[in-house]
Amino acid sequence: MFAFLCCIFPANLTRVDREASRKMDLFDKCKKFTRSLEVKEMGIYPYFRPISSAADTVVTIDGKELIMIGSNNYLGLVTHPKVREAAAAAVRKYGTGCTGSRFLNGTLDLHVQLEEELAAFMGKEAALVYSTGFQTNLGTLSSLVAKGEYMITDRSNHASLVDGSRLSFGKVVKFNHNDMGDLERVITGIDKDAARLIVADGVFSMEGDILDLPKVVELAEKHDCRVMVDDAHSIGVLGPTGAGTAEHFDLIDKVDITMGTFSKSFASLGGFIVADAQVIEFVKHFARELIFSASIPPAAAAAVLAALEIIKSEPERRQRLWDITHRVHRELKSMGFDIGATQTPIVPIYIGDDLQCFTFWKQLTEAGIFANAIIAPAVQPGHALLRTSYTANHTDEQIDRVLDTFATIGKEAGLIPAAV
Ligand code: PMP
Repeated sequence: MFAFLCCIFPANLTRVDREASRKMDLFDKCKKFTRSLEVKEMGIYPYFRPISSAADTVVTIDGKELIMIGSNNYLGLVTHPKVREAAAAAVRKYGTGCTGSRFLNGTLDLHVQLEEELAAFMGKEAALVYSTGFQTNLGTLSSLVAKGEYMITDRSNHASLVDGSRLSFGKVVKFNHNDMGDLERVITGIDKDAARLIVADGVFSMEGDILDLPKVVELAEKHDCRVMVDDAHSIGVLGPTGAGTAEHFDLIDKVDITMGTFSKSFASLGGFIVADAQVIEFVKHFARELIFSASIPPAAAAAVLAALEIIKSEPERRQRLWDITHRVHRELKSMGFDIGATQTPIVPIYIGDDLQCFTFWKQLTEAGIFANAIIAPAVQPGHALLRTSYTANHTDEQIDRVLDTFATIGKEAGLIPAAV
């Protein structure tokens, strides 16, 4: 309450502060920020494009159809009739929103059912559903890691883990991306008696590589650390049943907390963690992002429940996704593209320079392909990439066209040798 009042009635400014604040306007930085306008003027601005169709394998933008290789709809469930119908039925039964947080009036029987089913699917005692994946990471890290405790984080972790670790009162130490030698160096450099949590993406969202979880777990056991894995891009994709990175490595019991989002394979919106019941009980009473934010609407929860059924009952979708993924890896590599260390349906094409990346993106758009141009801070400055990602619903003909277009434009742009 005190913090709330402080927002409305900020502490009195001193006279010096008042004079200083007169010289500077809050919006000066906005006036100086012209980079996006310049790029728009050049006609190569790749962001905030309004799509006027379902987020399927073909989308409509400005009346033009583009093959979508820029979504996270890995299993193609966004347009699945059963998922759509579950969402529509939930709207009919419960209305459109929950108008409150899980803590107070915003818990429906649907949320509880979802938590029970997610815990069972992921092989853990309990689950907790938040309103977004981003909030899940913020709420979980900030509530669990206290003053004097440590988060040991991969340098390529998702922004939500970075911000969650900033919100926590614990200390953050970073190790080089997926570098297990560096992880051990970092662990041994900090207080061995303090509580410590190793936190990393299971599949890295821009690079597409998989966390070396066996080594993480080995080091965690050796040095007495807990482990949290962000499986936003792994659930539905990795593991014999699609339960993610821990299942992929047969290490479910060794990962203390797994985080997931509903905005990718689950074709909806929201996020969750699974862990031991005691951990969930603690987090649900301390995570401010859960307690002070409205719960996911009935349609979103029902869509996830339906998607989960399909993930469990249609493993052929995951197989199809992997067939496409392996083909794309193989063919892009043989054309000469630099796709880095990806092992998953996230396939980056490394370009380097921001403007060159935007230009390549523009050429692809004109050729009827929707992909994502990624620049800093999502990647290190100077490491711009074109992020492509594939879904189980892509047809072979669509993938043929995507690969042919990459070959043509990649040669024109000098990204691959002309002779290939
Ligand atoms: N973690 C990772 C690795 C992600 O890629 C994302 C979304 N891009 C999130 C967390 C946040 O999930 P959400 O979209 O549900 O907020």
